[in-house]
Amino acid sequence: MPRRTEFIPYKPKIILNKHKRADHWFWTRYTAYPYKGCQHGCQFCYCREQKFSPFDDPKDFAYTIHVKENAPQLLRKAIARAKTDLIFTGDYQPAEKKFKLSRQMLEVCLERNFPVFILERSPLILRDLDLLTEINAHAVVATAFSIISTPDSAYYERIRQMEHLAPSPEKRFKAMEQFALKGIQTGTCMMPLLPELCDTDENLESIIKWTADHGGSFVLASGLTLSDQQRTFFFNVLAERFPDLVLDYEKHYPAGKSYGAVDGSWRRKALKIRELCEKYGIKDRMPRPIIPGDKFATNKRIVEILADKLYQMELERAHKSRLWDYRKAAWAIEDLKQEVKLIYRTMGLKGLQSIENVGEEMGRVVEGLLLELN
Ligand code: SF4
Repeated sequence: MPRRTEFIPYKPKIILNKHKRADHWFWTRYTAYPYKGCQHGCQFCYCREQKFSPFDDPKDFAYTIHVKENAPQLLRKAIARAKTDLIFTGDYQPAEKKFKLSRQMLEVCLERNFPVFILERSPLILRDLDLLTEINAHAVVATAFSIISTPDSAYYERIRQMEHLAPSPEKRFKAMEQFALKGIQTGTCMMPLLPELCDTDENLESIIKWTADHGGSFVLASGLTLSDQQRTFFFNVLAERFPDLVLDYEKHYPAGKSYGAVDGSWRRKALKIRELCEKYGIKDRMPRPIIPGDKFATNKRIVEILADKLYQMELERAHKSRLWDYRKAAWAIEDLKQEVKLIYRTMGLKGLQSIENVGEEMGRVVEGLLLELN
């Protein structure tokens, strides 16, 4: 008999997690989620790791859902005091049909003109397309769908067993199309790229083609992480359902290492994804959503370009010191309290070079970007 889901309502003290600066993947500065635990129960989900999970037994993760019943009220208070920036929010697992907390949190974002990013595995997000379209008109919205295979993949049935409680990828692609039709930035997060299942050239090309065909503008990919109790849980799933994969995964995941750390396979896959994205006219990085009228729009664009370059250099195995030059310069521009174009206008190249952690060479790089953007 299928296991029943238990809902545990509670009132946390905090809902909005503030990060020092926007990350270079999704460009979010804040995170705010209404539930802990996820009924989609994907076998590979890193949220079962101890640092994210309130569950001693990882099997409870998909069947015991902690519901933050005061999430909208907490969010309203928190963002009244926060600088406007992108919030990573929304959770459209089946619990959302009953509690509607994601919707209420979006209503708060609309009230305050806060931009929103949602990463989803369920087409239930379409229920809130009206609200998201409205937020997009006043602030900005970006969405991405977690999709790791298409029905064209040779391993489709096996991959579906890893996420069998989640709606099918076809439904997610159809939802993506609806967002694209409303002019809302959307794309695919191929996360996680399961070795030996999802990382075949055929599957990568199929996902990228389906994304482009459904109006998506990017495909982001990252590897699987396996730590502590989630690592044990996942290897038990493999042993039970996919015993032929256990040896391969032990090779890819010696305890404590991430995918590709051993043989550089991650870099090869990322380069293939880049090549395929170019073929289908989309990006392998998520374009940074910019709020209309944002005074720091140029600063943010420059950070985006530096971060894109940094990613490219990582794929090309550039020297670590070069990577740090770009990373620190991107952080410095992100942290500026002034508009970088104003600094350049009033103080020229010397002004850019005097920004802490930018310096002479990166100052010239930033100058070049400013001239290109103008
Ligand atoms: S939908 Fe996302 S959060 Fe939910 S179990 Fe799957 S990977 Fe985890």
